Amino acid sequence: MPSTPQIEAAEGFPNLQQEVARISALPEVRAAFGWLRTQEPQFAQWQLDMARIPAPPFGEAARAEWLRERFSELDLEGVSTDDVGNVFGLRPGTGGPCVALSAHLDTVFPAGTPLNLRQQGTRLYGPGVSDNGAGMTALLAVVVALRKARVQHRSPILFIGNVGEEGEGDLRGMRYIFSHSLWKDSIACSLVLDGAGSDTIVAEALGSRRFEVIVRGPGGHSWSDFGAPNPILALASAIQAFGQTPVPASPKTTFNVGVIRGGTSVNSIPESASMRVDIRSTSMAEMERLETALRQSLEAAVEEESQATERRSPSSSQRRSFGLSYEVVPIGNRPAGELDPEARILQVIRAVDAQLGNTAQIQRASTDANVPLSLGREAVAIGGGGSGGGAHTLQEWFDCSGRELGLKRILLAVLTLAGVGTLA
Ligand SMILES: [Zn+2]
Repeated sequence: MPSTPQIEAAEGFPNLQQEVARISALPEVRAAFGWLRTQEPQFAQWQLDMARIPAPPFGEAARAEWLRERFSELDLEGVSTDDVGNVFGLRPGTGGPCVALSAHLDTVFPAGTPLNLRQQGTRLYGPGVSDNGAGMTALLAVVVALRKARVQHRSPILFIGNVGEEGEGDLRGMRYIFSHSLWKDSIACSLVLDGAGSDTIVAEALGSRRFEVIVRGPGGHSWSDFGAPNPILALASAIQAFGQTPVPASPKTTFNVGVIRGGTSVNSIPESASMRVDIRSTSMAEMERLETALRQSLEAAVEEESQATERRSPSSSQRRSFGLSYEVVPIGNRPAGELDPEARILQVIRAVDAQLGNTAQIQRASTDANVPLSLGREAVAIGGGGSGGGAHTLQEWFDCSGRELGLKRILLAVLTLAGVGTLA
């Protein structure tokens, strides 16, 4: 495993709070703040324009192209799209590993969803307008603010519009970046922009594992084939056993059986039965343990139903054809992880919040930051400013009041992470 790239600490500024105050007082940074203050109409326009371009999971190409064009217009270097559809643009620094600023391109809305985007006063309405219209708008706003104000920074800043954050996307964009991209070993820290708001810092990566479990048997007539193993009975007993698995309160760990299916009619022994299981934790070990418990419950339930079959079956020849089997198919896998409370990125955001008089809570969630956090890299996810609601529904909205604070927060955090001015 490659060692984690480190940005050289600004030794002349041992106190991070003083460093943030110094950066925010620089004339070019004040100019960037000033630009952010006056550009809300432009931000709202970008947000509506991009949200009007469908970006369902695995269908982000058109929106990615829109972002690639903006990156090119804004003179970022090395503007490119990788094999899975992530879009990159770089603002060079004077050297060293880079600071990644990313926003996911995809939405939860399937292809064909009517995207009726509209604006009323300070509010924008429509699917995806906040998640992740707010994050993508903030990404672009930072690119332009740095360019307009000609802010020089030490570490390069890598801007990323990535695919595959939502649902079945399963973080595939971020996984690719940290396993295959040109940048995989040179990203020192990642600031992920997801949704609206300025009042949270996602520093704990909630992991999840999801499975489709299928139990199969020969099926048969409920009367004449009585005795044949019944996949629904086996599944029910597996659910009963798995449901008894103890879970710790800390690290909080949960499980759910969310869907069960099976059978065709009341007088048929079913040929199959299935369930969908969701396991979540910030601990990889706990998720591992629950997955093992799930498999053991199934193994025992199938064995139990096979033995019951032997008791019910009239002849041994009939029994031989009575095989019962099960399959556990992974349908989701998001790695878990936690940021070291001493991590520099967290201290930087805290210092920026103090500088701006902002209050924010640490949160545990599943975001693109899961990938770097699970690799022991520094990462947090924060909002793109303003406020929003109705995420993942057609009634989604974003209110731009307070967006300026969120954008200043992101800009100041990125600049502090990248370093501005000369090392003492
Ligand atoms: Zn999101």
